[in-house]
Amino acid sequence: MLDNYKRHINYLRISITDRCNLRCVYCMPEEGIKQISHNDILSFEEIFEFTKEAVKAGISKVRITGGEPLVRKGAVNLVKMLAGIEGIEDLSMTTNGIFLARYAKELKEAGLHRVNISLDTLSPEKYSAITRGGNIQDVLAGIKAAQDAGLNPVKINCVIAKSIDEPDAVEVKKYSDENGLIARFIYEMDIEKGEFGVVHGGSGGDCANCNRLRLTSDGYLKPCLFSDIAFNIRQMPYEEAIAKAVDDKPACGLSANAHKFYNIGG
Ligand code: SAM
Ligand code: SF4
Repeated sequence: MLDNYKRHINYLRISITDRCNLRCVYCMPEEGIKQISHNDILSFEEIFEFTKEAVKAGISKVRITGGEPLVRKGAVNLVKMLAGIEGIEDLSMTTNGIFLARYAKELKEAGLHRVNISLDTLSPEKYSAITRGGNIQDVLAGIKAAQDAGLNPVKINCVIAKSIDEPDAVEVKKYSDENGLIARFIYEMDIEKGEFGVVHGGSGGDCANCNRLRLTSDGYLKPCLFSDIAFNIRQMPYEEAIAKAVDDKPACGLSANAHKFYNIGG
């Protein structure tokens, strides 16, 4: 699909839940969030049918995200359903890795190609502080399990405050290089203030080349992380929602208030 700025839109990111087992300081408030009711969360069937339509329209890359996708019951089944859609060339997941030691093998068998795992530091104390209680050993075990399962490549998403030369970022880079992982560095963003920057080692934040659409866990299709433009896929035919989102994709985002990171999925 070509949008009005001649960008080739082929990438769909699907947030399958707004819930999470961590509370990262830059993502969620400490007390948690007002959760979307179960009735409003898209069912796996709805996600599957929508994705089939999106693939028909030209999507070939799909990423499952959240909240934390692995806290949604049956996430492996959803992967299996999506993996069965002919035309998806790249099926990936972004996860905090906490449950990955448990699920990596099943995810691979279900047809997941690869994972991005979030890790901002190698210090157990700092990790616990950033995530408000997470145990870094769970993530490190998850990374190993992903590699052992043959999910490939395993990328590390590392949020940075100002520069890739920060000590934590340097350590994450070193650890990644030594362990066959690909590190990507993401500036801490503020969606409401419209503060965002390009991702080092990845493709995010580059408006001129942005190829993404995002589906929120409560069924809104968003053409841009930094805009409130959204189409409720339950209120119009899927095909129409996709066409409208592509047609309304802004040249560059400004700011957004209607959704947060944990329900758009970053
Ligand atoms: N829970 C999963 C995880 O943490 O990987 C998936 C969802 S999370 C919203 C997706 C990505 O967004 C993570 O890599 C996370 O670090 C990043 N993220 C969350 N809040 C952010 C912020 N304010 N600025 C930049 N990246 C952020
Ligand atoms: Fe949860 Fe991911 Fe947000 Fe951290 S970044 S609170 S792990 S959704």
